[in-house]
Amino acid sequence: MVNMVDRRFPTDQRKDPIELPDALIKDIKPTGDVHLQEERRLCYVAMTRAKKELYFTSAEDYGGQRKKKISRFLAEMKYKVDDKKSSDEKTGILADKVKGPKGYPNRLKAKTQPQYLPEHFSYSQLAAFEKCPLQYKFGFILKVPTRGKSVFSFGKTMHNTLEEFLKTKKTFEDLIEIYENNWIDEWYENQKQKDDYFKKGKDILKEFYKQYSKNPPKILKVNGQIALELPFNLKVGDYTLYGVIDRIDEDKDGISIIDYKTGQSKEKLDFSAKEQLLIYQIAAQEVLHLKPKQLSYYYLDDNTFASFIGTEQDIAVQKAKILEDIEKIKNSEFDATPGWQCQYCDFKDICDHAER
Ligand code: SF4
Repeated sequence: MVNMVDRRFPTDQRKDPIELPDALIKDIKPTGDVHLQEERRLCYVAMTRAKKELYFTSAEDYGGQRKKKISRFLAEMKYKVDDKKSSDEKTGILADKVKGPKGYPNRLKAKTQPQYLPEHFSYSQLAAFEKCPLQYKFGFILKVPTRGKSVFSFGKTMHNTLEEFLKTKKTFEDLIEIYENNWIDEWYENQKQKDDYFKKGKDILKEFYKQYSKNPPKILKVNGQIALELPFNLKVGDYTLYGVIDRIDEDKDGISIIDYKTGQSKEKLDFSAKEQLLIYQIAAQEVLHLKPKQLSYYYLDDNTFASFIGTEQDIAVQKAKILEDIEKIKNSEFDATPGWQCQYCDFKDICDHAER
């Protein structure tokens, strides 16, 4: 039951827009504060519909100058606000603010936890959390719908094309046909942008095919399955991290994990840029029982690679970071961290903290 604050529930008395004349009322007309009685009955009915759990929620601030008091109905039931906690305590999805009387639950649930934790995490979820915890909350807890983006349509088109082509290994003409069949025609801002991307895709594939025909990669098989778009579930502490590895090659130097990137290439990778591949390295070692020698981002736009391999220390740091982030999510630590990322954030138009 929401809005359990004074003057919201019960609401201030409002007269009916058209009052029924007394002469037309057959029943015995109730006396006293009829509106309040009606609201109390409504509260009772709402409370008694609960089958498993009953939550009351309230906030101190609904706009306006003064802090709101809890609803008189809660006060009548002998719930009271815990002042020590109320002001500086972080409010999550549900705040722990009120102590219950004997026979009632001891307090309102502070459980944003298990019920809001996903069954498994993904790199993109954790990356959103790292960029800005509030962005994560908008996207993955409140599930605020977002528009698609041309970069995603294009990226998916390229991934699907390369996967299909490398599975079938055909001619350049076949590659282009696969590309055209896999083209995702959505979320481009206008026809020109779509045409530009379409042409760019063909240029990328031309370069890709040149390299491919000179030196075709030997793609590893894992459990009888060709290692393209290979899914994994990695256990980190008590949690599961889900991911998909674009490609695993094997040559004379050993095993390489490859992640395709569309967009600007990087020559140097700082730790945060390495994180996605570090997670893949951990998954390759612990789930697929492989010993990768190299991790590479393959920048399709200019056909370049940025490669490295994670040290034991990198792996330990990465695992600790994953656990730390998940703990924060569990504890509803969703404070905004505005900055450069706001300009690319899907929620900048609804976010009070957006840096504009
Ligand atoms: S607009 Fe900025 S502060 Fe707001 S959620 Fe997005 S990244 Fe965070």
